[in-house]
Amino acid sequence: MTDKTTAYWTHLADNLQAETRLFIDGQFCNAINGATFETINPANGNIIAEVASGDEADINKAVASAKAAFKSGVWSTMAPRDRMDIMERFASLVDQHNDAFALLDSLDMGKTISETSTIDIPFAAHTIKYFAETIDKIEGKVTNTEHSALHYVRRQALGVVGCITPWNYPTMMACWKTAPALAAGNSVVLKPAEQSPLSALLLAKLFVEAGGPPGVFNVVNGPGEIAGKALALHHDVAKIAFTGSNEVGKLMMIYAGQSNMKQVAAETGGKSPHIFMPDLACMDTAVEYAVNAIYANQGEVCSAGSRLLVHQDIHDEFVEKFVSRAKQSYCIGNPLDPATTMGPLVDKKQQQRVQAYISAGLALGCNMPLGNAVPESLSAGNYVQPTLFTGVTNDMTIAREEIFGPVACIIPFATASEAVELANDTDYGLAAGIWSADLNTANIMARDIDAGIVWVNCYDHGDMTQPWGGFKQSGHGRDKCFDSVLQNMQSKSVWLNLA
Ligand code: NAD
Repeated sequence: MTDKTTAYWTHLADNLQAETRLFIDGQFCNAINGATFETINPANGNIIAEVASGDEADINKAVASAKAAFKSGVWSTMAPRDRMDIMERFASLVDQHNDAFALLDSLDMGKTISETSTIDIPFAAHTIKYFAETIDKIEGKVTNTEHSALHYVRRQALGVVGCITPWNYPTMMACWKTAPALAAGNSVVLKPAEQSPLSALLLAKLFVEAGGPPGVFNVVNGPGEIAGKALALHHDVAKIAFTGSNEVGKLMMIYAGQSNMKQVAAETGGKSPHIFMPDLACMDTAVEYAVNAIYANQGEVCSAGSRLLVHQDIHDEFVEKFVSRAKQSYCIGNPLDPATTMGPLVDKKQQQRVQAYISAGLALGCNMPLGNAVPESLSAGNYVQPTLFTGVTNDMTIAREEIFGPVACIIPFATASEAVELANDTDYGLAAGIWSADLNTANIMARDIDAGIVWVNCYDHGDMTQPWGGFKQSGHGRDKCFDSVLQNMQSKSVWLNLA
């Protein structure tokens, strides 16, 4: 938890002077047509700022700047050690501006200040540092060929990488996408989500302050279906690194096909199973993880453990402990109060969407042992109370669709193989959790579950070495990890005739 007070954060918010223009070629600028959009504080409905709204012309300008910077070699051919130094300074500057980033993300999307200041921003800075450290570890190879030839494979940057990010972890997602692309020597154009446009502008400014050349890191805010689409269709963009919903992820692949066959890495949604076997070692610990896995960040987490598969022998005890733990741990309130553990949902649309799923669960006859009306005092914000459904079957809408809010479903099962079958009976495949004292059973289940990330006797643990991405319709890229630098490069085979 942050050691600063509500008064401290409120004072910063009241005196906010956030940059709102686009960032192109190392400078802030208005949108070419002068358009703006409002960014709204989801905790109270107030307008935070009017933000420059880019369209195709601004994307063209940003891509031209990124392309010129790439071609000039000012970043792409910089000695690895020098590029590392700049990226390391960039990481330090993000760390030093922790409060500014934490505040912008809390105000824009309703995240609690405790989470943004102690988790999101330190982790964002750490992401840049990790990728800085990869720069002089990138290697090509010499292959074992016939005597009369020398064959080597070199790795080269792609060119301009377009990064399109969601609102649920604004600074962190921007860093997951841009830092590996920059480390590989590319130039980037970042299009943040409309709901959280502010922190990306500070990020790009600090890159230049750290010594990053102008044109290498550009930010264009604007509507997804206009600015995002123009970026994804652009012929001078070599790759789109996308995180967001799978509907839009699929559009990215269509846009690539309609334009220049650019590479697409899509990190999309999830409906992750969290499995509790009857022999789990400690029920209290497992329940604590179950509660955090669905309610942290208001449930607006791609890897949220939203389908709780609980063995029938421990079902009733689990439900009772879950409800009691959730009531102790998650309380909705002002995101700028360091004691608040759950903020509002990102916007009215998302609140209504989540409320519609809750109504659907009730209409299906499920029990709702947790979930109340929001108090009148918070009615101006987009709040939804932590909610739990029991008596759920895996074919129900609430068990199949990504709700992206604080709503958990408990589905009972009788055997390990039934649990795996239920776990895999979904279009998604991002993450899964297994709790069992029998590591043999847990390993067999981990092998058989179709998910890119499996946690055993924990949930949401990990570090930068862990590839982050999904199976099936949860996408196909891998964020974090050394591989994601390599995914921002292409190999070139050079065959020399020595005869
Ligand atoms: P979204 O798909 O609505 O938007 C994501 C981004 O795409 C935004 O920047 C948006 O402006 C842009 N966009 C929208 N329409 C576009 C179009 N036609 N062309 C180009 N760009 C367009 O997603 P969201 O609501 O911002 O984020 C929530 C989703 O993100 C959830 O599904 C969540 O699971 C997913 N997510 C996945 C991961 C992961 O690592 N797999 C991480 C975080 C969030």
